[in-house]
Amino acid sequence: MKGRPLTASAQHAPTPFQVSGNELLVGDVPISRLAARVGRTPFYAYDRGLLSQRVSELRAALPAEVCLHYAMKANPMPAVVQHMVRLVDGIDVASGGELKIALDAGADPMEISFAGPGKSADELVQAVAAGILINVESPRELPILSDASARLGVPARVAVRVNPDFEIKGSRMRMGGGSKQFGVDVEQVASVLEEIGARRLEFEGFHLFAGSQNLDARSICEAQRRAVELAIRLAESAPNTVKSLNLGGGFGIPYFPGEQPLDLQAAGEGMQAVVAEARRAFPEAKLIIELGRYLVGEAGVYVCRIVDRKVSRGRVFLVTDGGLHHQLAASGNFGQVIRRNYPVAIGNRMGAPDLETVSVVGPLCTPLDLLAEQMPLPAAGPGDLVVVFQSGAYGYSASPRDFLSHPHPPEVLV
Ligand SMILES: *Cc1c(COP(=O)(O)O)cnc(C)c1O
Repeated sequence: MKGRPLTASAQHAPTPFQVSGNELLVGDVPISRLAARVGRTPFYAYDRGLLSQRVSELRAALPAEVCLHYAMKANPMPAVVQHMVRLVDGIDVASGGELKIALDAGADPMEISFAGPGKSADELVQAVAAGILINVESPRELPILSDASARLGVPARVAVRVNPDFEIKGSRMRMGGGSKQFGVDVEQVASVLEEIGARRLEFEGFHLFAGSQNLDARSICEAQRRAVELAIRLAESAPNTVKSLNLGGGFGIPYFPGEQPLDLQAAGEGMQAVVAEARRAFPEAKLIIELGRYLVGEAGVYVCRIVDRKVSRGRVFLVTDGGLHHQLAASGNFGQVIRRNYPVAIGNRMGAPDLETVSVVGPLCTPLDLLAEQMPLPAAGPGDLVVVFQSGAYGYSASPRDFLSHPHPPEVLV
């Protein structure tokens, strides 16, 4: 179907979806028809074409030798992971459950890595048996890994996840620097490396992840430059050569009015120097960045249907069948300090001008169940479809779906 781009309105940041007539298109299917195909609302829909397009854009902008990994906790839907496995160079998992999905999706174990604090002994054994790379975050993991390796007769492949001695600027979620539960403090890395050597674990390199949801290309590149600098320093204590250097990621997407998308060209250009330096210091190493939300976040929508239109003392409420139990982040209750509206549209009235200022709420008996507050939208009522954009990452799997015991929403990859 021939669509036209959906331009940014004053209400929201640009999204990559197209529209045709009054209908938003997901995977070329008009949203009303897609809702009928799914058979019920609410649901999540992810656009295959947009997932592929995003990876192509990254490949075109980033230095060619950078390997692109998908951090699948952003969206672990098996069909999405299967699609991503064919497009990217590796998968980052954060649990034994995610490891299963990645393996089922056909990911090459050599290109799967596993990070996270508090990995259970069972998960560590599973990881060794699968032959994946384990990002060690605590000395506690080392004896479990060497025991598993001896028992199974397979090498335990490890990298050290480092908690750097610097912080990244502009990241909404900082995951490195200062005191953190993530990674091994720089000051303790040498002793962990010594134990890795003594236990004959297969050391492959370092993992440095400074933070998440960053829209500033310069601070992303600066964090990567410092990560390489740090890796050079730490490699002096390594038991063998560095074969893998994970520089983190943290590429963000715009959620709120006024946020500018990340300048991908600038990020790519800034990374040229970082990559050259890493190449010089670690000629044999794979250089990796791992991205979650940047790969999938903008390719997904959450769709719900208006069931009631109420006017309370002059204010219009569009009451939908969906809400925070499915899309917690859009309600403002997933790590936001000040609640701001995600981009929202009436998916079957895309051509119509914004006519009235309304609040879009869900069916839950709590005032927190809010999808849009005082937002200008086309006049809409029961039967119309509310679409929440930027819902491809940390949506379905990051929401309290059993809260109030409504059915879980289907997910479709279109
Ligand atoms: C969550 C996480 C990511 C992905 O973060 P995004 O903001 O989705 O890109 C990458 N690496 C690690 C180690 C993570 O924990």
